[in-house]
Amino acid sequence: MQMKPEQLELIREQLQTIKERSPFYAKKFEGIDVADVASQADFEKLPFSEKDDLRSVYPLGLQAVPDAEVVRIHSSSGTTGTPVIIPYTSQDVTDWAVQFARCFEIAGVGVLDRVQITPGYGLWTAGIGFQAGCERLGAMAIPMGPGNTEKQLRMMQDLKSTVLCATSSYALLLAEEIEARGLRDKLHLRRGVIGSERWGEKMRNRIQNELGIEIYDIYGLTEIYGPGIGISCDEHCGMHVFEDFCYIEVVDPNTGEPLSDGEVGELVITTLRKQGAPLIRYRTHDLTRILPGDCKCACGEKHPRIDTLVGRTDDLFKVKGCNIFPAQVEEVIAITDGTSSEYQVMIDHVDGHDEMTILFETPLEGDAREKAELELATIFKAKCGCTPIAKGVPMGELPRSEKKTKRIFDSRY
Ligand code: ZN
Repeated sequence: MQMKPEQLELIREQLQTIKERSPFYAKKFEGIDVADVASQADFEKLPFSEKDDLRSVYPLGLQAVPDAEVVRIHSSSGTTGTPVIIPYTSQDVTDWAVQFARCFEIAGVGVLDRVQITPGYGLWTAGIGFQAGCERLGAMAIPMGPGNTEKQLRMMQDLKSTVLCATSSYALLLAEEIEARGLRDKLHLRRGVIGSERWGEKMRNRIQNELGIEIYDIYGLTEIYGPGIGISCDEHCGMHVFEDFCYIEVVDPNTGEPLSDGEVGELVITTLRKQGAPLIRYRTHDLTRILPGDCKCACGEKHPRIDTLVGRTDDLFKVKGCNIFPAQVEEVIAITDGTSSEYQVMIDHVDGHDEMTILFETPLEGDAREKAELELATIFKAKCGCTPIAKGVPMGELPRSEKKTKRIFDSRY
């Protein structure tokens, strides 16, 4: 991605003092004269910041301002061990809300909208980010938080919610419940702002059709503000990322070399204005590409776009010598007739070799189901290079969750 002169200026400004402000970067950039960085090429020589580095300075080692300036902290989930704590200044909180309000605007949300917010409130950045963005925009926030489907549906009807904010799995759960109860005609939903996990086209279509809404994908991560640093627009072709707050790069996940626009690799983000915990060249582990061209989107936004995420660098799994991303499994399911959006992949080691089973939901039974199983296995072999055991299960049999749905189960290790 070609760095804009304004971005280089903001980066240079930060680098002048970052070693004095941040003990984390004093150590990371030890022996490097970062004040000398004068070009994009210089910048690309700087070391990456990794999530493990951030963990290693738990709890507040990332803080780059005096205590008096910190007004809030957030924390990324600690599912894999020590969490990462991110301190925010008052300006950071405002900057985040400004970006989030922009996201809502791009999604066509206005002051008369009623926004039902179902992501969680608390240490992680989801619910409160949606809330602050919604209030800044001037729409009416309905701060539900996750779960309690009964109450969600009641409020959705009684308050005539027009916008649903949710993870894709919770949106699906609500959509199915609404369909089962025949509530759709009683609802006023028109938009969905859906975030925080990667999902397939089929699932999106189901939610869109069953709820009768237009869906916008929101992007972000706790380490960099939270959700709301980018969103898809009416063109539904990638997500715009706000270039006045973040500089984005895509690098080869193995070598760390910057890739050309259009090539798929790992997204790396540098914050341009963050005070509490600035991050330079932070590896997101998200796999995507920067959409090439001079980023003229038909919607009129100038901010550059990243493509729909194709996975996480750590989601990549290897079976029978083939590297496979969950997005490829989704693609195969999407083009196989008689499948729904839900699936699970089970990988095991049986009699000295890898065995991969793909469970998928299907309304078909008997011979028709067997035919779908065979078709899925054939398409998978053609696309991914190895043959799975494909097994159709009845609709609704695979688990849904209110947070992120786990779909890959590897029992080999
Ligand atoms: Zn656009």
